[in-house]
Amino acid sequence: RKNKFSEKDLLKELLNGNKTALGKGITLIESNQKTHQKQAEYLIEGALPYAHKSIRIGITGVPGVGKSTFIESFGSYLIDQGKRVAVLAVDPSSSVSHGSILGDKTRMEKLVTKPEAFIRPSPSGDSLGGVARKTRESILLCEAAGFDVILIETVGVGQSETTVHSMTDFFLLLKLAGAGDELQGIKRGIVEMADAIVINKADGDNQKAVRDAKLEFNRALQLYPPKESEWKPEVKLCSALYNDGVEDIWKMIKEFKVKVDDNEYFHHNRLEQNKFWLFQTINDYLKSRFYENPKIKDALKEQLKMIEENKTTAFAAAKHLLSLA
Ligand code: GDP
Repeated sequence: RKNKFSEKDLLKELLNGNKTALGKGITLIESNQKTHQKQAEYLIEGALPYAHKSIRIGITGVPGVGKSTFIESFGSYLIDQGKRVAVLAVDPSSSVSHGSILGDKTRMEKLVTKPEAFIRPSPSGDSLGGVARKTRESILLCEAAGFDVILIETVGVGQSETTVHSMTDFFLLLKLAGAGDELQGIKRGIVEMADAIVINKADGDNQKAVRDAKLEFNRALQLYPPKESEWKPEVKLCSALYNDGVEDIWKMIKEFKVKVDDNEYFHHNRLEQNKFWLFQTINDYLKSRFYENPKIKDALKEQLKMIEENKTTAFAAAKHLLSLA
């Protein structure tokens, strides 16, 4: 089926900030069809020279912590500050739920109606690697389309926080007061990655618990070694529901940006991330090419059977399969 836009027109419209063109471009990135992938490559290459002026902010926290509400409130504030805001998501479980958990438009009702906002749910995919690659390429298109703040939402499923951390400049962890770490499902490594811990739902009867949580998180942050960015993570309070605290959070992120521009960490980190994604992409490609090879699919079945029957070892089987690649 022929696209209404040629990819050249699509690129032009995209660079003009046309959201429909941006949406179509991302659909091409997400498609597994060869022709679409070619078109997507053309778009990304054309977009790349223009894709560098944003700040990318990762946002994570357990379901119910208030990610959607926060993005709605924070995003609207940023738009009032004259920004254009894109919201993307990384949700590796979305192949099951059809990409509706995160970045769901119905959950950000106000934001979605604003011309300065672009919201896109998580691409679906069998692997976190595949989902991540699509989101990373989508970031580039959003930036080329003139979005200057990119919010990337994820829920703590498996490695998804680490993945989002490796594609963002600033990593924001949303927490609740009065819930134990186990309850919040927060792994130690996540706190270590955070540039800010934001205690959400700091409203109503919650005040004492919130103050206690702030002390506790501040103490916890002392335990980690200094960051390469030289940025000292901060604990902030927020009521996403009542739009309270988002101004202060943006002020902090701007301070972060000044610091990491001065010490050149911002630039350095993006280069390191590019290298990381180079290897990531190669690994994903090799892996899928291997497992999708019909010769290997058949041989894999045989070798698995032989393992069940104790006729070979895992190592010998692997060596044999790799020799077929
Ligand atoms: P998500 O699953 O992390 O995206 O969480 P949601 O944004 O869907 O919020 C979960 C629930 O918490 C919803 O009922 C929200 O209205 C509520 N909520 C979110 N932020 C706040 C807040 O700052 N204060 C209060 N009291 N409720 C909030």
